[in-house]
Amino acid sequence: MVSSAAHMCGFISIFGPDQQDVLQDVLAGLLAIQHRGQDAAGVVTYREKFQAKKGLGLVRDVFEEKHFGRLKGHLAVGHVRYPTVGLGEDTDVQPFWIDYPIGVAMAHNGNVTNFHELKRNYFGERHVKLASNCDLEVVLYVFADCLARRPGTAITAEDLQAATREVFARVKGAYSVAGVIAGVGMYAFRDPYGIKPCIFGRKRTEQGWWYAVASESVVLDVAGYEIVRDLKAGELLWIGQDREPRFFQVGTSPHRPCIFEYIYFARPDSFLDGVSVYGARLDLGAALAKQWQATGLVADVVIPVPESARTAAQTMADHLGIPYREGFVKNRYVGRTFIMPNDKQRRESIRQKLNPIKAEFEGKRVLILDDSIVRGNTSRQLVKIARQMGATKVYLASYSPPLLYPCLYGIDMSTKREFIARGRTHEEIARELGADHVLYQTIPDMVEAVRTAAGKAGIEFCKACFEGVYPTGDITEQMLTDIETDRMAASKT
Ligand code: AMP
Repeated sequence: MVSSAAHMCGFISIFGPDQQDVLQDVLAGLLAIQHRGQDAAGVVTYREKFQAKKGLGLVRDVFEEKHFGRLKGHLAVGHVRYPTVGLGEDTDVQPFWIDYPIGVAMAHNGNVTNFHELKRNYFGERHVKLASNCDLEVVLYVFADCLARRPGTAITAEDLQAATREVFARVKGAYSVAGVIAGVGMYAFRDPYGIKPCIFGRKRTEQGWWYAVASESVVLDVAGYEIVRDLKAGELLWIGQDREPRFFQVGTSPHRPCIFEYIYFARPDSFLDGVSVYGARLDLGAALAKQWQATGLVADVVIPVPESARTAAQTMADHLGIPYREGFVKNRYVGRTFIMPNDKQRRESIRQKLNPIKAEFEGKRVLILDDSIVRGNTSRQLVKIARQMGATKVYLASYSPPLLYPCLYGIDMSTKREFIARGRTHEEIARELGADHVLYQTIPDMVEAVRTAAGKAGIEFCKACFEGVYPTGDITEQMLTDIETDRMAASKT
């Protein structure tokens, strides 16, 4: 079976004043969300026709000055793609667009869980052969097909609502989408459960209003847009030729934003659904400090695994009244260890990526804090390095609870079998990792910490990777097995 290329990703779409080129803002925005995907990048702009530039690699490598003259237009959509296990194909690089029967460009962030089924049945029956392994293609076709069947000639807000409704009815999973309709306007819809983020902003220049939708608020910040608001779960935003932003509540499912965005994925300077990612991480560190105190163990220093754990390590150290120290220095030019195709390469590259400062370990009881432990490769290496540097005790803490279940909504974690916490007690995990003790955040503490940062008492999150409850309610054992088979096969390539 061919795996669908579903990834954690980032997007931005812009509708600028007539005759203006929005490319610079799109590129600034993509650079700001490069952390959401380093595997591939692409931009599609519209002026009289769609123009595109897409490629594998970082934004700064894909786009060169020579492309700027060609990528004209006041309507555009851009995307960065996150690598999965194995290598991505360049045919799968987003955004996608079609010119017929209607000009639509589209990018998404998320994962379609019934991609294989749609490919086999819905499209198969219609003799449609998909051109890529990217699940965005099915969203685009269902959407465009419905728009093409609209009753009138003009494209109206009702047509957009009907198309979004049809996507929600046919396409399962979590996907936030942004894009443009050739020469007409810009649309975005957030996935039915709002698992993936999607935020709307605007700015005004002498030429008029510029509108943008993006995966994270930081995109709007860097391109000079003010935040208007996050889209709600299942909400459609449409800005047509009259340039009036209009919101429509199409879906009716409850809002379940992904909690892992706050833990690891989003930039700390972003706000997701009005919640500061930085604030959430501060609270997560403080919550874990309480847990640590309850163990009765004593540490001399808190050392974060850079970058994501730094914020939480500060509050953890503050609450414990012990120093926060930078014990590991990250070489930011080495790619993410996670994406190395096999375990051996992954282990070796961790040492290249994180080099210790001996003085921070020698003769000390160190508490190493990471945002999460997935396979345990990072932690195992760091414990070993800490001991080599002369630490007398090495404690490991994770400010997220044990990761146990695969994310089916686009965060590439691993298969069930690869989670180190799966089927092991905390003592066994500590032994596996060579640590003197392993401390995890509890699920209630994690939820409470993010809720506190949000000032939203009742907010519920998607926390499927921790507890195996998938909010879309349509995840079958077969889908889990398919994903596992896909990923095991891909990791061998
Ligand atoms: P591992 O070495 O497999 O235990 O992975 C743990 C490391 O991967 C931690 O340092 C996390 O910061 C990082 N991490 C967690 N989730 C992800 C993800 N979905 N993609 C990439 N890295 C991740």
